[in-house]
Amino acid sequence: MLRTVMVGLMLAMASASQAQEGGRLAAAASAMGATNLNSIEYTGSGFVLGFGQAYEPGERWPRFMQRSYTAAVNYQTPGMRLTQVRSQGEHPPRGGAAQPVAGDQRTILVVSDKYAWQEGAPQAVPNPGVVQDRLRQLWTTPQGVIKAALANGGRVDGSTITFSLAGRAITASLNEQSLVDKVSYLSSADVVGDYPIEISYSDYADFGGVKFPRRIVQTEDGHPTLELTISAVRPNAAVALDVPGNVRDAPAPGPVTVAVEKLADGVWYLSTPNARSWAVEFNDHVVLVEGMTGEARSLAVNAEIAKLVPNKPLRYVINTHAHYDHAGGLRTYVAQGVTIVTHELNKPFYEKAWARPRTIAPDQLSKSPKPALFETVSDKKVMSDGTQTIELYHMKGTSHNVANLIVFMPRQGLVFWGDGYNPPAGNDPRDFGRTPEQSIDLYRTITANNLDVKTIAPAHGAGPKPFDNLKKHIGLIAP
Ligand SMILES: [Zn+2]
Repeated sequence: MLRTVMVGLMLAMASASQAQEGGRLAAAASAMGATNLNSIEYTGSGFVLGFGQAYEPGERWPRFMQRSYTAAVNYQTPGMRLTQVRSQGEHPPRGGAAQPVAGDQRTILVVSDKYAWQEGAPQAVPNPGVVQDRLRQLWTTPQGVIKAALANGGRVDGSTITFSLAGRAITASLNEQSLVDKVSYLSSADVVGDYPIEISYSDYADFGGVKFPRRIVQTEDGHPTLELTISAVRPNAAVALDVPGNVRDAPAPGPVTVAVEKLADGVWYLSTPNARSWAVEFNDHVVLVEGMTGEARSLAVNAEIAKLVPNKPLRYVINTHAHYDHAGGLRTYVAQGVTIVTHELNKPFYEKAWARPRTIAPDQLSKSPKPALFETVSDKKVMSDGTQTIELYHMKGTSHNVANLIVFMPRQGLVFWGDGYNPPAGNDPRDFGRTPEQSIDLYRTITANNLDVKTIAPAHGAGPKPFDNLKKHIGLIAP
């Protein structure tokens, strides 16, 4: 009897507490003007910064002008269209993220319920892998986060709201006017593991009965990635997010497939979309150049190497620099006992980054931790066994990255490098996306070391190009 009363009392207390929390969330919704808000469009400008693309490992992200930023959100669908225009922000350039940017670059990213895609080309490009990321972006907007908390049993403790969205813990805080002033959650990157995203909303103003921040600052892993001043807000704007037929019909992402192209005897170009590596066969082992993107790609590349060179172990992976698109696949090799060859400045960065927690996206190394094996490079290193020779050179003075290596095979006249010159398919030597500063840096490194380069076969872009094309691009020989 006593027990029944106690349980009844506890249930009554729990439901009173839920009602109270629901009451506080409803009050915040009312203060924000979120209660009858079905959609919103807001526009601003400021700066956008390239996450994972620092000039020096661990420093702030490279900064670009965000000429315009327009988010059109439909909470009913739910969906969002984000239209951004960026241009070069720093002169001279400092860091990566495909700079120096030539002119204005517009990107249009959309999510609509179960579908994500990119607009701007004649046909929409499906992005099925990022649906949850973009929905999280939608549900962490100022009004979105209150709606999501209400719909997902959000708990309120003082001024702090917590709830779980598709398995990810979200925290929001309210200011004294019950307006959302901060949202934070954990994300994950292959190089650093779990890292915090924090969005701060401030300088609220009234836009037709809806309170909206005029200042939005987002940081990722401690450094700003977005700094916006909002100039216009349209509550309940018409936001149509019809899913294009080719996006609706796109197949689910399958396993990673690797294209193989022979560059020379014992040298292969292993390519996935916009990410390329070399495999080089030595007498009794294999050397991989660049562990791009992440674990799924590394495993697919390893499977191809095992077919190309059966019975020889992969012993080294060369890493040109620590930008996350170039280094995300390295941990798989650490887990397999493969030695990482990189510039000496990168070693302490990787050791620190690879020791961080990985709760969001565990990988082989986090499941079975072991120390990384390194061989480091200062100015130059030669790897040779008589049959093959690979030379590594530090790119001194490049604005792309302070600890950047190029990979050269003298007998074949082949050079691999990370970033800076990615002309289109075909023989047009021009790189339309960027101005030539970093191509000039590559040219300087090649001439300073008297390298007889015939072909560049880089980490991104449309495939191997004659070295003369780079000379044409930077104006040294006539096009
Ligand atoms: Zn880079």
